[in-house]
Amino acid sequence: MTDAESIDPTLESFIRRMPKAEIHLHLEGSVRPATLLELARRNGVAPPAPDEAGLREFFRFRDFPHFIEVYIAVCSCLRTPDDFATIVREVGEDAAAQNIRYLEIHFNPETNVRKRGLDFHQMLAGMNRGRAEARDRWGVEMRWIADGVRDSETSPWSVTQTVDWIASLSPGDGVVALGLGGNEVGYPPTPFARDFARARAAGLHTVAHAGETTGPQTICDSLDLLGVERIGHGVRAADNPDLVARLARDRVPLELCPTSNVCTGVVPDFAAHPFRAFDEAGIPVTVNSDDPPLFGTTLTDEFLVLARCWGYDADGIQRIALNAVDVAFLPPDERAAMRSAFEAEFGELRQELGLPAAPA
Ligand SMILES: [Zn+2]
Repeated sequence: MTDAESIDPTLESFIRRMPKAEIHLHLEGSVRPATLLELARRNGVAPPAPDEAGLREFFRFRDFPHFIEVYIAVCSCLRTPDDFATIVREVGEDAAAQNIRYLEIHFNPETNVRKRGLDFHQMLAGMNRGRAEARDRWGVEMRWIADGVRDSETSPWSVTQTVDWIASLSPGDGVVALGLGGNEVGYPPTPFARDFARARAAGLHTVAHAGETTGPQTICDSLDLLGVERIGHGVRAADNPDLVARLARDRVPLELCPTSNVCTGVVPDFAAHPFRAFDEAGIPVTVNSDDPPLFGTTLTDEFLVLARCWGYDADGIQRIALNAVDVAFLPPDERAAMRSAFEAEFGELRQELGLPAAPA
């Protein structure tokens, strides 16, 4: 990783303390190693390593097959609705420590239900117990993105089943969008078009992982065939200038996850990442952590990358942080209220740190 330059201490304080929103985080990829040990013990499952140090080592990204192995090991320890309440509460606690005020969290209901014999509505109720606790204790708001798994053994039914569950929920259940995850290679968007149309008809937002491990065509197809509003990753848009122009013109937000991309080899290093080029082209870019313990990162660390590797100053960092608010899957009035609250907090923080007011 290229990270040569150190950061101005005021800018670092600004990044650590500023209000944040994150819109691309995976629930199953956010479990703390210590908690995974506890859940394995609670459920009588053999943990992938006997102690926390061993688990940290096991979690460390090696290659994509190992990453999938870690993901499966984590999921195998999640057996009850209370397990989901626990991990959601802890995501809230970890968010609060970084002043993350709002999260949109991806989860994979179909695989969890099918492989663990969970009941979807009980699992969601557990998640919502954790969500309520995170809101009450730390003021952290969360919404859910239910991902169908494109390369599931049951594909494309995995997506159909996911829509069946989430299309009839009430707003209080917190599911705001249908997402599409899993391995892109060999699983183009076409078979999922009907289910994405059903989700939109039910009033849900839509998003797809695309252009992470395959090229620009998957991004185009996700927009044209699935009608998605945002793209998870989308890094490979950099291979097609026409697509970059289209994303900028149509204001299609990208959920970029720099450290994840370096770890998985989507880009060789931070210097090669198109984040800043996308931003300068006018695409609404956001920065996200994807699976923090698996990539050894946090959202704060991702913002530090922006400063350290791509020369962002406080104004640029603030603008990117607010992009996540502007493209959140919330009703317009809630989004506007969150933006006002963020702007007020940014104003106070800048004053305290002796930074001039942000440009209008
Ligand atoms: Zn992801």
